[in-house]
Amino acid sequence: MSKININLKDGNISKDKKDVIIGIDLGTTNSLVAYINDGEAFPVKDEQGIHALVPSIVHFTEDGNILVGEEAKKMLNVAPERSIYSVKRLMGKSYTDLKKDSDLLGYKVIESEKEELVKISIDDRFYSPVELSAEILKYLKSRIEKELKKEVSKAVITVPAYFNDTQRQATRDAGKLAGLDVLRIVNEPTAASLAYGIGISKEESKTVAIYDLGGGTFDISILEIDNGIFEVLSTHGDTYLGGDDFDRNIIDFWVNNKAVDPVRLQEDKRYGQTVRMNAEHAKITLSSEPFFSINLEGSELSIDTETYEKISSPLIQKTLEACRMAMKDAELETHEIDHVIMVGGSTRMPIVRNAVSTFFSKEVDISLNPDEVVAIGAAIQADILAGNRKDLLLLDITPLSLGIETVGGLMDNIISRNSKIPSRQARNYTTSIDGQKNLKVSVFQGERDMVADNRKLGEFILSGIPPMPAGIPKIQVKFNLDADGILTVEALEERSGVTAQIEIRSQYGISEEDMGRMLLSSIQHAQSDKEKRSLIEAQTEANAIHLATIKFISQNENFLSPEEKEQLNILNKNIRDKIDSGTKDEIHTAMEELNAYSAPLAHKALDQHIGKALGGTKIE
Ligand code: AMP
Repeated sequence: MSKININLKDGNISKDKKDVIIGIDLGTTNSLVAYINDGEAFPVKDEQGIHALVPSIVHFTEDGNILVGEEAKKMLNVAPERSIYSVKRLMGKSYTDLKKDSDLLGYKVIESEKEELVKISIDDRFYSPVELSAEILKYLKSRIEKELKKEVSKAVITVPAYFNDTQRQATRDAGKLAGLDVLRIVNEPTAASLAYGIGISKEESKTVAIYDLGGGTFDISILEIDNGIFEVLSTHGDTYLGGDDFDRNIIDFWVNNKAVDPVRLQEDKRYGQTVRMNAEHAKITLSSEPFFSINLEGSELSIDTETYEKISSPLIQKTLEACRMAMKDAELETHEIDHVIMVGGSTRMPIVRNAVSTFFSKEVDISLNPDEVVAIGAAIQADILAGNRKDLLLLDITPLSLGIETVGGLMDNIISRNSKIPSRQARNYTTSIDGQKNLKVSVFQGERDMVADNRKLGEFILSGIPPMPAGIPKIQVKFNLDADGILTVEALEERSGVTAQIEIRSQYGISEEDMGRMLLSSIQHAQSDKEKRSLIEAQTEANAIHLATIKFISQNENFLSPEEKEQLNILNKNIRDKIDSGTKDEIHTAMEELNAYSAPLAHKALDQHIGKALGGTKIE
């Protein structure tokens, strides 16, 4: 066999310098796409050439069409249960993570007792946040393709600095599903710094604070930039604090002044919407004028700057408190901050700018449009990756994802493609069979969802796991990719301490052409791969529930009535049938039906087994 040399460090696959790589700010309230042409940044506007912001809203019409952006926003009040907003809040989250948030959402988030990722139900279909985000990304992709009159397939997407590995992977998957090769996931504060040209030249060493106050969220991040490397020193914020709260304060002020009828506000949707729009209008007006007044059905809705400042002060103080904590975590004094960058539409408010400027004892950077800063930074990062900025150092990255096989032959990415190297990542797994003593860890490289479509790099067996019920062993799989591109994979069963490992040398690699082909096929098969993955995940989840239910019935023989047993058996048989021959949605419906029936029984039986048997991801 001929030995082909692969350098896992070399991420430069495309030789076509004419490729446009786009920058996407996938936001909670609004999203935006931008590109660079000859060094100049262009946020892409709508067909009328007015708005660059696309509301991050997806609406499902009753006749099966999907609307995104302004069109979907119009439907938010008309059919809230079919209009999905704030999808970003759901990315990579399980239902347990979301318990608090789901009450606030107008659409149906599927209840599940377990650590599974959330799904949203509309009619009889279940959607994952990844699929919904992909709709927004597809819309942005088509918008830029119309403007540039050519196809684009490569993108840089931004995420908040606090996003964890699962949330980043979910964002990457959404890009892939939208037909985009996601070259890099970039932190929003990093993008904002790049947009201001900070960190672009190699020798630079700076400490930067990024204050990001949008429509619904607030983040403060402190970055240290040294030799082209951006390090997040600290981040704080409030995922439920933004421009909407300033609007609500104005409405409360009008209610207190009897200019707005509180009962009608609750009950009359249209009136409520008009008042909300006027409150936002008032807030925006007060950013440049001293006074706002309008007549609504005979009542005067008015407010002046002084009053507005007074009622807004507690919100601004809250953001400053977060700044204080971020500075403390970064172990810095305000005089050590070189730049303060303002991001998000709400930083247009002079009171916000002044308060932040006073806090850091420094002028704040506001020369760029605060709505566009992050997308522009993403576009700059994209331009750098496209090789259009010769002066820039590109960090070493891994060109293909590395991961292991999980139940059903699925690929579980541990180190994502384009991750900086050296890189270390770990993930926890468990067993799927009672008393399982051995666990095979198979390592793969590639972007497809099924390992059979990827390249196998090696495998090893972790043996000597003490016999325990399925789901109990805690097995950590660690990937360590060193600066030379050598990958070491280690598995450790935490309770017993047994370990095993394998070293994979970079030489056993593939050519650039093959790498290019693998990437292309992952984009071409994104949709069918996604469908296969969702079906296998649903089958695996359902199988665990099926087995747990059998166990539950046998352990609670005496507690359950004959009718309850019969009903459980019927619902459980239905799950079995759907695993064997049903669609993903039919399997979910069958699980929902069983859960709805068994949850109260399980509570009553105070039985711990189901919960225990169902937790964690399993590998065979
Ligand atoms: P973003 O999520 O970054 O797009 O920010 C949107 C928020 O910025 C909304 O709450 C807007 O009402 C707010 N906003 C936009 N322009 C202004 C302005 N001139 N003054 C105050 N708030 C604004």
